[in-house]
Order: sequence, then C-alpha cells, then structure tokens
Amino acid sequence: MNRQTTPVTGPARRPAARARAGGRVLAAVLLLTALAAGCGKPGTPPPKGPQPSALPSYQVQDASAITGSPTLDAARSRGHLVVGAKEDQPYLGQKNPATGVYSGFDIEIAKMVGASLGFPPDRIQFKTIASANRETALQNGQVDYYVGTYTINDNRKKLVGFAGPYFIAGQSLLVRKNNTTIHGPEDLDGKKVCSAAGSTPYQRIQTKFPKARLIGYDTYSACVDNLITNQVDAVTTDNAILLGYAAKVPDELKVVGPLFSTEPYGIGVPKNDTVLRGAINDALEHHMRNGDWQRAFEATLGLSGEPAPTPPQIDRY
Ligand code: GLU
Repeated sequence: MNRQTTPVTGPARRPAARARAGGRVLAAVLLLTALAAGCGKPGTPPPKGPQPSALPSYQVQDASAITGSPTLDAARSRGHLVVGAKEDQPYLGQKNPATGVYSGFDIEIAKMVGASLGFPPDRIQFKTIASANRETALQNGQVDYYVGTYTINDNRKKLVGFAGPYFIAGQSLLVRKNNTTIHGPEDLDGKKVCSAAGSTPYQRIQTKFPKARLIGYDTYSACVDNLITNQVDAVTTDNAILLGYAAKVPDELKVVGPLFSTEPYGIGVPKNDTVLRGAINDALEHHMRNGDWQRAFEATLGLSGEPAPTPPQIDRY
C-alpha cells in the first residue's frame, strides 16, 4: 500500500504533536496493513473480500481485426498490456501485498476489456498510478489504459481520451463512527478534511467549500489512516471508494450525507488513439450485454453493500 505520511498540502505539524501522533499512526498503520492483507481487525473474523472462485472469467477474443491503434500495436509487440490502476481501494482496485495480485471491480473491468483486445489475464500487467499522475502516465505511454475510479470530465479530455462510462459514483464523506456533527459538505467549515491531490473531490472542496481545512495526500488510504488516528475529521471522495473503507472497519467508520456530485467512471486512454477508445467502448458494451459486468460487480463492489445498478450508457463522443 502506498502510504505517504507527509501531506501534499496543508499545515505542517509541530514536532511534539508529531511524536504524540506517532503511536496513533503506528496503530493505524498496523490496522490498515492487516486490512490490506485481508486479515481484518485482530480478534474479529476476516472481512469478506473478492473470492477468486466467484469471479467470472472472460472469453479471450481474436482481436486481429482491430488495426490502427498505436497503443495496441505496441502492446502486441511487447507481448502484454500494461494497465494503470489503484492498489489501496477496497473492492475496486486493491493489491495483495503478499502476492502482488490486484483485485476489485476496476480490475475486473480491465480484464474483461483485455480479453476483448486479445489478452488473457496473465498477459495484463497492472501498475499503480496515483490520482494526480494519471494524465501524465497516459501521455508518456507508461500505461496502455487506466482503470481506477477515473472521472470523465472536459478538463481531463483535453489531455487524455475516455471510454465508458462503466459506472456512476458521487462524492460523499467518511467520518469516524462516533461523529455527530458532520452530515454533509456544508458542515465542513473549520474542519480538517482529507482527499487525494489531483482528484475531482479535492478540487470541489477547494472551490465550493473554501472554509474547510483541506489536506491532500497521494492516496485515500493515507487519508483514512489520518481519520482513524484523529488527525483529520473527514475523508472525502466518491461513495464507491468510501463504502469500501467503511465496510472493512464498520466499528470505526461510517459514510454520511447525500451524494454531492456525479462522477462517471471512464477508462483512460492516450488522447489520440481513437481506435483503442472505440474498441474499449465496444468491449464494455459487449460485457454489459452478456452479464459479465453484473457478475463482476456482484463479486467485488457488491460486497461493500451496494446492489448492482443498471450499467450506464456508453458515451461515444
Ligand atoms: N473519481 C474521482 C477522480 O477521478 C475521485 C477518485 C480518484 O481520485 O480516483 O478524481
């Protein structure tokens, strides 16, 4: 798990406060390490995680008719796809620290698309890319496509292309279980709220709720560490992400308030590779129609308590 302990922005902590915080941070780190390993809280039964046996497998297609995609041609000569993802988002994109295996709904989406492009799962290499680095990773060719709670919007479309959407989320808030004062973003005035730098939820707090004391980290798991150890009052991002953290430690954390944005998740592709974008849209539609999408949802994100919605309409812009 990529856990950065120094905020990207926000106030520097005094050394004494830092030393006091040390013990609590260690406790949180131990707790989250146990969670990442799928062990749950010490003394409690392990939380339900994606069961490999419940995951669908996807029929690998002969994709030789897809021609004219520089990204796909490079992957073909390399022999495998490189797909950008998250590694610390339960039920969406999570890397098992012991085995290095990625799992979650985003990972299943990446695999079903890979199968339609002619690549079985053992020819997909996942690479963790943080929210703030996604556009550069796609622009520099570090990844062929990116599947990791990536909101489609016009600003990002100036830099990258998007297939999808394949899921619709919305911004929400995660607080400690015993919190009684935060019910929505308007309650954040003067409160410390943490989000990932470069994310749309971070930008929304900055512009629409400027009285909140916003702290940015590279990852949401760093924010959750800080929430559990009382360093911040709330974590904000998409409900799909927050529900995963809450489901892993339901005695400590809860998701509160209404959704206050719409976050359509897309698959990021290099901006000018319209052949790849079209082929991924075809793949998504195919797997939404044949039930793979629904089965993948139920085996992953569905475990955080959400029923499978109707898959969204693909937007071929
Ligand atoms: N969906 C939002 C975004 O793309 C938040 C989640 C994330 O940072 O991945 O910025």
